[in-house]
Amino acid sequence: MAVVGGGLVGSAIAWGLARAGQRAVVLDEGDVALRASRGNFALIWVQGKGLGMSAYARWSLRSADLWREFADELTGQTRLDVRHERRGGFHLTLSEREWKHRDVLLKRVAAQPAMPPIPFELMDRPSLARMLPEIGPEVTGGSFCAADGHCNSLQLFRALNQGMQVLGSAYLSNHRVDRIEHRRGEFLLETKDGPVVAGKIVLAAGIGNARLGPMVGLHIPVRPQRGQIIVTERTQPFLRYPVSTVRQTDEGGVLLGDSQEEAGEAVVSNPVIAVLADRAVRMFPRLGRLNVVRTWAALRVMTRDGFPIYDESTSAPGAFVATCHSGVTLAASHAFVLAPLIADGRLPPDTFQPFSADRFDVPKAA
Ligand SMILES: Cc1cc2nc3c(=O)[nH]c(=O)nc-3n(C[C@H](O)[C@H](O)[C@H](O)COP(=O)(O)OP(=O)(O)OC[C@H]3O[C@@H](n4cnc5c(N)ncnc54)[C@H](O)[C@@H]3O)c2cc1C
Repeated sequence: MAVVGGGLVGSAIAWGLARAGQRAVVLDEGDVALRASRGNFALIWVQGKGLGMSAYARWSLRSADLWREFADELTGQTRLDVRHERRGGFHLTLSEREWKHRDVLLKRVAAQPAMPPIPFELMDRPSLARMLPEIGPEVTGGSFCAADGHCNSLQLFRALNQGMQVLGSAYLSNHRVDRIEHRRGEFLLETKDGPVVAGKIVLAAGIGNARLGPMVGLHIPVRPQRGQIIVTERTQPFLRYPVSTVRQTDEGGVLLGDSQEEAGEAVVSNPVIAVLADRAVRMFPRLGRLNVVRTWAALRVMTRDGFPIYDESTSAPGAFVATCHSGVTLAASHAFVLAPLIADGRLPPDTFQPFSADRFDVPKAA
């Protein structure tokens, strides 16, 4: 089995395949690649997800529920602590208009048919201040969800890479796949170091999936969406819970984020950074006294509706695709649920049909 792409999605699947007894080789473009997996905010997030697709809310909650066991197993295997915490998480609003918008969004998500019970609550300012005593005077309210959490996602990335190799899978860096052919039931993957032959493949190449998919009959319409993040110097612990745009890491630094821009270049732009910083300081005034040590931009892997794509090719059976924009949150589901199913060679339609890219093939109105 070959997994194309060694970001968080490919690594979680390769680890899960190896754990299910199916050794894999991961072919990865390497450090020159544009990787969302190195530039994310590390939230394991459920609240607000799934408007328009309750199956996505179920899939996200399932993953968040599996994360403790997932983190413990990775640590047991690699001795790397991925610093998983699940005390719940907040979304804060800075005006009445934002608060109303949040209220409407969460209620619309919850009112959909077949929604799982997501433990969220809308909070006014006094109740918020009891849990987050350092909020600034402009915070009008927010929402809290006990199912949310966070981790150290770079450590997660490292643990998955190390763990998959402990379990017998191989990771080949600088192995960009340029072409894939499906011949007599096998896949021939061309890399600059020569071909690799595999009985099954998983396309997990992030944005690169859009180009690779058609080679095996898969339509994978993903585009880059830029997100920018600010990191402050380390400071004493003051934020017990992650907030959707402000998160104190286990090392003490505070991440402020993150933007959503329709742009294909991973470059930082000052106007966006200024807005992120301004909002964060209004949420927690003490942040205004900290030095910024780093800023970065990274590219999300985004579909038109924002939901993942999981599919198997009908013209080239044995070719699977997995792509999503919340690869940290979904890492546990990818490893524990999706990977064993791929190893068995079948994605059950009751769980996976909603995630097929067929949903984008809507005939144009006459
Ligand atoms: C700013 C920002 C904040 C985010 N915050 C969160 C968050 O809080 N929580 C959350 O759950 N998610 C978050 N995400 C999303 C998360 O980071 C991504 O969902 C995840 O990293 C996607 O992983 P991936 O493996 O699909 O893609 P990538 O990380 O882009 O990796 C793709 C890999 O494929 C390889 N590749 C590409 N083409 C080829 C080829 N032809 N041959 C071989 N290899 C190839 C590349 O080398 C790369 O390693 C965030 C993303 C961004 C940008």
